[in-house]
Amino acid sequence: MDISKAMIKNPPLPKNFAPELLVIEKGEGAYLFDSAGNKYLDFGAGIAVNALGYNREDLIQAGYNQMKKLIHISNLYATKPQVELAGKLISSGNFGAVHFGNSGSEANEAAIKYARLYSLRIKGPGHHKLLCFTNAFHGRTLGALSCTPSPKYQDPFGPLIPGVVVSDFNNTEQLSEILDDSFAAVIVEVIQGEGGLALMTDSFAEELNTLCKKYDIILIVDEIQTGLSRTGTLYASEGVGLHPDIITLAKPLAGGLPLSATLIPEKINNLLHVGEHGTTFGGGPVTTAMGLVVWKILSNPAFIKEVSEKGKLLASLLEELSKSFDFTGNVKGKGLLRGIEIEGTDEKLMKIIRAAMEKGILILRSGKKVIRIAPPLIISVEEIEKGCEILKQVFADYK
Ligand code: PLP
Repeated sequence: MDISKAMIKNPPLPKNFAPELLVIEKGEGAYLFDSAGNKYLDFGAGIAVNALGYNREDLIQAGYNQMKKLIHISNLYATKPQVELAGKLISSGNFGAVHFGNSGSEANEAAIKYARLYSLRIKGPGHHKLLCFTNAFHGRTLGALSCTPSPKYQDPFGPLIPGVVVSDFNNTEQLSEILDDSFAAVIVEVIQGEGGLALMTDSFAEELNTLCKKYDIILIVDEIQTGLSRTGTLYASEGVGLHPDIITLAKPLAGGLPLSATLIPEKINNLLHVGEHGTTFGGGPVTTAMGLVVWKILSNPAFIKEVSEKGKLLASLLEELSKSFDFTGNVKGKGLLRGIEIEGTDEKLMKIIRAAMEKGILILRSGKKVIRIAPPLIISVEEIEKGCEILKQVFADYK
């Protein structure tokens, strides 16, 4: 497939984006079309955002109908979709309120602020430390970035916020050596979305539960990529027995429009005063009206079961692939957030992603050596099989 006509070189965007980008024009179901009319099977979903695929009439109608009534009103007022969506999110766990925002970073930023406020008001000054983990990714705003211990992302932007400690992911012993009541919060992912798709062990989850309870530390679970059924349970934390105080959500929440949610417990909500935190756009009527459509579908147990089953199929096909090539390694992830390790350089990974694009499939990377697959959750069994068949050809050509 010749994709050169749909590539734009040196777009007027910051140089922190790639110098050459594929111009995408529209989508339908699990497929995307570029500006030259080429068709791609989407194994990336706009980085795990487009859970319901493309051109969904119910989603479009919800957005359109709400736009005709009201697009924006600020948080000086409430709107029905905002209150209704918050109510549904609260009832998904032991939560007292939802702070809406516009991005994953903002959701984590709010979580960190709420945890620090709680710690200050309950434990007093000097209990503000934050614990994060190696290879974590929590976002690019300064607070979230401070908990994203990757030199590539952090080094150009120091100094970062003080009081952040880094521990090895899944190292239970180190966790118990480090944590004490000087910590306000632990922030953690269950599957490290940008960190090679490493999965939290059940024993690590158990230790986190125990230590956070012991020292009254707020356990923030970043479910921005894993939440809302992506991994075959509503929240990935359920799958490993982790008990969050705060859950942060974003990517799929409003069907592709920017909306994030920080789900906080009653014990934090009860300490807040008017004006201490806020947002201009977060939780607007359009994004939350679309969020209600997304929530109804993604929280349905039958839908979640289907995701889990399709995830198992994808994993088994990737296992087969992994056995057929000497440069492929372990299959990673859960549900429809999967990956396959590629041995070799960063350049090799990028070449495979480009070759896949030329064969009509869009895939992602995670960390330095994992190809990440995060298709729309509505993808069919046939499309999963087709995608893996194309990947096989891509790998065969590469060999
Ligand atoms: N946390 C996780 C786990 C993510 O995957 C991401 C984005 O990829 C973020 C936080 C940051 O989200 P955003 O880019 O919307 O700020």
